[in-house]
Amino acid sequence: MTCKDFLKELTDYLDDSLDQPTRVELEEHLQWCHNCYVICNTTKKTIEIYRDSTLYELPDDLRSRLRSAIMTKCRAKKPSTSGA
Ligand SMILES: [Zn+2]
Repeated sequence: MTCKDFLKELTDYLDDSLDQPTRVELEEHLQWCHNCYVICNTTKKTIEIYRDSTLYELPDDLRSRLRSAIMTKCRAKKPSTSGA
């Protein structure tokens, strides 16, 4: 799994809507990729804050905005000396 794959599945992962094998792949990626680990934590917190203040479902609009923000952030970050 690449960082791109990871980011593609991240919101579903945080939504608990992934199947088990994909979930495991993501968790494995998190163990060696510090960058995605940080992104995952940040996104999770953002979603939790959002959920606390409103409903338990992420609207598609927010989900896609969140995703593109993450993608932009990831692209901006040049992979440096293995951040882990
Ligand atoms: Zn990664």
